[in-house]
Amino acid sequence: MSRVAIYPGSFDPMTHGHADIIRRGLVLFDRIIIAVALNIHKKPLFTLEERLAILEEEFGDLDRVVLDTFSETLLVDYAKRQGAVAILRGLRTESDFAYELQMTHMNRTLAPDVETVFLAASPNTTHISSSLIKEVARFGGDVSSAVPEHVARRLAARFSP
Ligand code: ADP
Repeated sequence: MSRVAIYPGSFDPMTHGHADIIRRGLVLFDRIIIAVALNIHKKPLFTLEERLAILEEEFGDLDRVVLDTFSETLLVDYAKRQGAVAILRGLRTESDFAYELQMTHMNRTLAPDVETVFLAASPNTTHISSSLIKEVARFGGDVSSAVPEHVARRLAARFSP
């Protein structure tokens, strides 16, 4: 039996923190579907196509990692359609925890058979968030310790005068 997890998020852009969760998640699950949310409300820096291209560059050679997009649908319905047993999330801070716990209870109410599995961020990535990276890159700061080189290049190009 193949155990599938959905790893949903904005991935705007993908960071070493996301990659860490995916690599560790592959120990627990046979397949991870990275589900990139369209997220028009968050006004993403990168288009859906760009966010997917970044993930493809990073994970394209791993056949147990699948890329997909979702919008205008409940995450638990999407997860069930994909035959997933779990939603995978990363936890960095107490505020992550408060938000995720509420979401998890709601998702469990909607779909009791879809579990949410949390992985605590690794000590070396716990300070990394896509939004912080964008702030640093916007003002020319060095983000090379937080994102792969190809992402750092895209950020520099996006913010070049
Ligand atoms: P969302 O808009 O759903 O928060 P993100 O792309 O910001 O999407 O994050 C997707 C998932 O990855 C979330 O569970 C988030 O907590 C987790 N995550 C983001 N950055 C890190 C990190 N540095 N370490 C561990 N987990 C992370």
